[in-house]
Amino acid sequence: MPTIAVRDDVTAYLASPRKLLIDGQLVDAADGRTFETIDPATAKPLATVAQAGIQDVHLAVQAARRAFDEGSAWDRFTPRMRARLLWKMGDLLEEHADEFAQLESLDNGKPVGSAKDGDVATAAELFRYFAGWATKMEGTTIPMSSEIRQFHAYTRREPVGVVAGIVPWNFPLVMACFKVIPALTAGNTVVLKPAEQTPLTALRLGELFLEAGLPAGVLNVVPGFGDAGAALSSHQDVDKVAFTGSTEVGKKIVAAAGGNLKKVSLELGGKAPNIVFADADLEKAIVGSAHAAFFNQGQCCVNGSRLYVHRDVYDEVVAGVSEIAKKIRVGNGFDPETEMGPLISDEQYTKVVGYLTGGAAEGATASAGGSAVDRDGYFVQPTVFTDVSEEMAIQTDEIFGPVVTAIPFDSTDEVVRAANNTRYGLAAGLWSRDLGNAHKVGARLRAGTVWLNTWHADDVTLPRGGYKESGWGRELGSFGLDDYTELKTVIAEL
Ligand code: NAD
Repeated sequence: MPTIAVRDDVTAYLASPRKLLIDGQLVDAADGRTFETIDPATAKPLATVAQAGIQDVHLAVQAARRAFDEGSAWDRFTPRMRARLLWKMGDLLEEHADEFAQLESLDNGKPVGSAKDGDVATAAELFRYFAGWATKMEGTTIPMSSEIRQFHAYTRREPVGVVAGIVPWNFPLVMACFKVIPALTAGNTVVLKPAEQTPLTALRLGELFLEAGLPAGVLNVVPGFGDAGAALSSHQDVDKVAFTGSTEVGKKIVAAAGGNLKKVSLELGGKAPNIVFADADLEKAIVGSAHAAFFNQGQCCVNGSRLYVHRDVYDEVVAGVSEIAKKIRVGNGFDPETEMGPLISDEQYTKVVGYLTGGAAEGATASAGGSAVDRDGYFVQPTVFTDVSEEMAIQTDEIFGPVVTAIPFDSTDEVVRAANNTRYGLAAGLWSRDLGNAHKVGARLRAGTVWLNTWHADDVTLPRGGYKESGWGRELGSFGLDDYTELKTVIAEL
């Protein structure tokens, strides 16, 4: 099997212990602790990483606070300087695209090509998009209506202060960029906690920022576990937490944030319904539904994991999606033929395999896949379940793996009710040639993103976020940027 050669710079990066980035310095953890990050394709250790604890989090927050203070180098960084730095980061990231793609693939398992053309390219695009915004964060002038006195009133967009970004492992670099880039665009300082499973590209990103000329302390990167995330969310000197991860941890963050009422934005879990109407372009709907379910090993908050198909075309669509599932080439992300890599970790593997056996035990039938792949690493087969009822755990729970359930429907009202019958509301989608019907049904779906005749189509310009227990606030686009600012109203008597 031909494999992509691991680059020398990647080998060298992995060979030496990786350190925390605090106040512009690469440092060991205060108590000297380290942890190993695992290659999910082999289940073997990949690199040793300093493990941030509560004390390190505190030092990082203090550094970010000093960097935010009046008169600091960052305070004197004009919007134009921020724009140039962000643009330069986009260039630097592209120069290092192969290195980042390999690091991401080794740490996360996703195919190298997908890491490069998807993750790294998106991150570079994010830098360019937000570089444009840095000089365009404008206020407004607002008329005041007093008959007696004269006023001039206007608003200013100001940074919130110290922002903590806490991110998951499914798109490690992109998720880090979703937090760091808009925060810096708006003039905040940041402490970033990558997921314990995937700290490498976030740490490397921190080094590139120093190379690009970001002043010390403006971005601090503290890999660690939940205790480090909890310390950030409860820290009195953090002004905002921007979190992406599970709904369960999101609720803990909200509780922890209450101490100083820091601002909180949350991008949480999902269980997206994907509806195929009888009049859909079935070829497109079948390919699109497989992509909706299996992209990124199914480890996507927005993946279309509940497939509802009109009874007239149910057999054809399920057979089509199952055929695609069976043909997906599962393997090591460094094999150029690989279309689907391993799951992220032993824990995630055990969880997904538990749903595969649990689904079968509850009476569902696997029309494709249904079990783990017999090899080292955390590989499972892309799976399509039929004979599913709404009460089954595979139908209600976010599995976060390449598993899709298929249920037939007869009427639009019935399927809209079923689609919305979830505590989540992150994404939804449908396939229909009747565009009027598509837009009407789309409006009835309670989700932050609705895809019509496509899935996973995305852009850095578009706001994203969740209804219900899928989150608070929106990320990206100008809407997302607003979340990293305070709005000040200034009133002057003339
Ligand atoms: P997770 O919630 O377990 O972990 C996410 C991050 O939170 C990690 O960095 C982790 O160390 C940290 N953390 C753990 N306990 C914490 C605590 N008590 N306080 C603060 N931080 C803590 O999620 P995960 O398993 O890494 O990621 C999968 C989940 O993320 C899924 O539910 C998925 O839907 C969600 N997700 C959502 C989006 C989105 O945009 N909505 C995107 C990707 C993933």
